[in-house]
Amino acid sequence: MTNKDELISIVLPVFNEEDGITSTIDTLEKFISNQPQNFELIFVDDGSKDKSADLIQQQQAQYSNIKLVQFSRNFGHQLAITAGIRYTNGDAVVVMDADLQDPPEVIVDMIKKWHDGYDVVYGKRISRDGESLFKKITAAAFYRTLKHITSVHIPVDTGDFRLMDVKVVNQLKRMNEPDPFVRGMVSWVGFKQTDVTYERQERVAGTTKYPLRKMIRLAMDGITSFSSFPLQIANWVGSFSIIFGIGYLITSLLTTMNTIRFAVFAVFLMVGITLLAVGTIGSYLYRIFDASRRRPLYIVANTSGFRSQETDHPK
Ligand code: UDP
Ligand code: MG
Repeated sequence: MTNKDELISIVLPVFNEEDGITSTIDTLEKFISNQPQNFELIFVDDGSKDKSADLIQQQQAQYSNIKLVQFSRNFGHQLAITAGIRYTNGDAVVVMDADLQDPPEVIVDMIKKWHDGYDVVYGKRISRDGESLFKKITAAAFYRTLKHITSVHIPVDTGDFRLMDVKVVNQLKRMNEPDPFVRGMVSWVGFKQTDVTYERQERVAGTTKYPLRKMIRLAMDGITSFSSFPLQIANWVGSFSIIFGIGYLITSLLTTMNTIRFAVFAVFLMVGITLLAVGTIGSYLYRIFDASRRRPLYIVANTSGFRSQETDHPK
C-alpha cells in the first residue's frame, strides 16, 4: 500500500469546546492538506450544551472528511473515544483531544513508526504546558502507582493520544466494557507497541473539561479494571492487625495499661479499616453489577457526514 491509498482516522471527543473547535478544525485540515495520506476526522460530541456540534456541522460544508457522532447526553471522555473508534474506517486510527493540546505534527512521527512496523504508537508527554502544579503532581503520582499495581504494562505519562493499527482497532471494537479505561485496554490488547515523545501544549481555548471529580473517577476506573491490588491491601492490613491484637493481649496480661484509651483508639482504627475494605470490595462489586445489566455503553442520537458505504453504525 502506498501512502496515497492509506486512510488515517482521527477520533476527537468533544465536550463544550465551542471556543476552540473551529480553530482546531482549521489547524487539522491545514495539517492534513500537507500529508500524503487520506484522513477522516471523526468528532464525537459528548452531549455538549454549547454550540460545538453546530460549529462542527458548519465546517462539514467546507470539508468533506468531517464526520460527526452525537451522543444523547454526556457519557464521558472514555466512552466518547470508544464510540469514535467504532465508527472509524481507517487503516490506522489516531485519538487526540479536540483542544489541540496534542500537536498534530506528532502524528507524522507516529505514522513513521507505524510504517516501521509498530501497531501502537502512543504519545509520551515530556512536559505539560499550562497545567496546574496540582494536576502535574497528581497525574505523575497516578501513572506511577498504576504502573506498580496493574497486571498489564500501562506506560507512564501517556494519555489517550496515540496511533493504532487497524488490527488493534478491530480488537478494541470487540471489547464492550462499561466505564472503560481505553489506554489500559490498548495495552492489554498487545501487539508491537512503542512511544514518541512530545510536549503537551496549552489548550487553544476554553478550560479543562476534566474537573477533579472526573479525574478521580478515571483513576478509579483505571485501577479497578486492571488491578486487584486494593483488595489485597485488606488482606495485609487485616493480618497485621490480628498479629497486633494478639501481641497487645499478651502484653496487657503481663502488665497494667490504660486500656480504656487504647480501646477507643482501637475501635476507631478497626472500624475505619473495615469500612475502607468494605468500600473497596463495593467498588469492584459495582463494576460487576454495571457489566451485568448489559445496557448499551452509550446512546447515539445522530450521525452526519458518513457516506453510505461507510460505517455509520458500529460494527
Ligand atoms: N471530553 C469529553 N467528555 C467529557 C470531558 C471531556 O468528550 O466528559 C473531551 C474534551 O472536549 C477534550 C478531551 O475529552 O477534547 C479531553 O478533555 P480535556 O481537554 O478537558 O482534559 P485535559 O486535557 O485537561 O486532561
Ligand atoms: Mg485537553
